[in-house]
Amino acid sequence: MALLHKYKHASGILEKLSAEDRRNLINICKEIQKAEERLLTEGEPVFKKCRTQCKGMCCRNIDINAILGCTDFLYILTMESQLQPMIEQCLENEVLFFSANCIFLENGEGPCIFPSHSMPEVCILSFCSDDTLIIDRIKEIQGLFQRLDWFLKKRAMVDLKNWLLSFIRQLFLK
Ligand code: SF4
Ligand code: SF4
Repeated sequence: MALLHKYKHASGILEKLSAEDRRNLINICKEIQKAEERLLTEGEPVFKKCRTQCKGMCCRNIDINAILGCTDFLYILTMESQLQPMIEQCLENEVLFFSANCIFLENGEGPCIFPSHSMPEVCILSFCSDDTLIIDRIKEIQGLFQRLDWFLKKRAMVDLKNWLLSFIRQLFLK
């Protein structure tokens, strides 16, 4: 699924959420954000290397479509809705089929437009150095993103059920 399609899917879900689903989604996303903050604190020595030595090699010459999923957009749009226009502007530069510098690098240079405590799953969990000290934090974030994935799957099942019901109703009304 191309990035733009994933983004539209996530924003479409957000528009149609019931009040209860929205509350559940916000709760999961708040937990992810707290877990990301804990990771940033405990993983400071690892992140320091990214900032001072490497300055974001991970964001260059990549296939961003393989890195970001619907759950990432759902998370970021829930917690950082003010970024919506900037995300849409970046998506206009999506490069299909080839690797390139990430389209979410500010002005094509960086840093990343996403705040460090609201990062996509793969971006915040990718390390080229020893991650033994933060392995529990990594597992915690992976588990929370899995909850978000379940939330998406549940929504898809509800949509399918509603579509089938309306289809059957139309059949009987004919
Ligand atoms: S994880 Fe490694 S390659 Fe990626 S930005 Fe950090 S230091 Fe650079
Ligand atoms: S979304 Fe941000 S952190 Fe992830 S690859 Fe792109 S610029 Fe880098």
